[in-house]
Amino acid sequence: MAALIPPSDDQGLGAGYHSAQVAVAVRLNTNESPLPPPAAWVADLQREVGRIDFHRYPDRAASELRAALGELHGVGPEMVFCANGSNEALQTLLLTYGGPGRAAACFEPTYALHAHISRLTRTRVAEGRRHPDFTLDMAEVGRVLEQARPAVTFLCSPNNPTGRAEPAGVVREVSAAAPGLVVVDEAYGQFASWSALELVGPGEPVVVVRTFSKTWAMAAARLGYLVGPPELVAELEKRALPYHLDAVKQAAGRLALRYREEMEQRVALINEERGRMAAALAELPVETWPSDANFVLFRPVAADADQVWQGLVDRSVLVRNCASWAHLDGCLRVTVGTPGENAAFLATLADVLETAGVRG
Ligand code: PMP
Repeated sequence: MAALIPPSDDQGLGAGYHSAQVAVAVRLNTNESPLPPPAAWVADLQREVGRIDFHRYPDRAASELRAALGELHGVGPEMVFCANGSNEALQTLLLTYGGPGRAAACFEPTYALHAHISRLTRTRVAEGRRHPDFTLDMAEVGRVLEQARPAVTFLCSPNNPTGRAEPAGVVREVSAAAPGLVVVDEAYGQFASWSALELVGPGEPVVVVRTFSKTWAMAAARLGYLVGPPELVAELEKRALPYHLDAVKQAAGRLALRYREEMEQRVALINEERGRMAAALAELPVETWPSDANFVLFRPVAADADQVWQGLVDRSVLVRNCASWAHLDGCLRVTVGTPGENAAFLATLADVLETAGVRG
């Protein structure tokens, strides 16, 4: 069976990347939108699907979708690359700019897929640590950039799973110091007050990655994109599989952009709920970190995180168990849901902590 051992196994992929999909009443583990997209969008899409020539390949260049996204961000379609979820955009970036003999810098703890996809593409991971409060340690950033000379430097803003957006000055400073491409993953970008989109332009080695999975409430559609310099987008197009974006997905994304106002209303509701959630968590025996996203990281102070996680699951509430992740000892992450889901989570958490005998 030796021939079936993939070469990337020597890169330490472990068991791969998983998030438990358990049948529970309150699912707050994958940072999805708690609300569905507008019914009018579903009706638009149904109409559009009826017009698709299913016996023909879709528009390979996804011209209309890219033009619509370009319009949203005030750039031309030649600066937009679309993919099957933003994870595929990250993968295409690493297929293009990573690879054997090259390094990608990640500042941990951060989104696990940055290092994971780097390893998959046989890109060496140059790992830096964040400060204990999870803000970026600029001395550490300087050390990693200097020593590894990474072809790709990842930032995640707001950072998953810790929650904070990077300040504009920090992103500018990292971009100025990085020897290669800077990828700013803004999967949660609409929840934050500043976007690195203003740093993107022709000749600038900066890209911003976005997704329809969170604020656009379309995780099932698997659509993401990046905004970057035209010369980079042209290189990515050469590495993407032909017709990787099916016609339904292209229509789904294009039509969703007509409902921007509804998206912004969802973001406002979630931001408000996040404030309530943070205030309620502050009353419980857990440590929390400030969040600019639709999730909150917390750590039970006197109870075992695995047991708390299991206690929540047993009461039909699912959160993300980060307790065993590097530099996140004992941490759990909860997605901000509907007011009802959040109330259920908070009451259940209080109950679980009390059962563990640590309340008050
Ligand atoms: N980036 C970050 C920071 C994320 O948290 C996620 C989803 N967990 C993604 C990218 C990938 O999202 P998708 O592939 O659904 O667009």
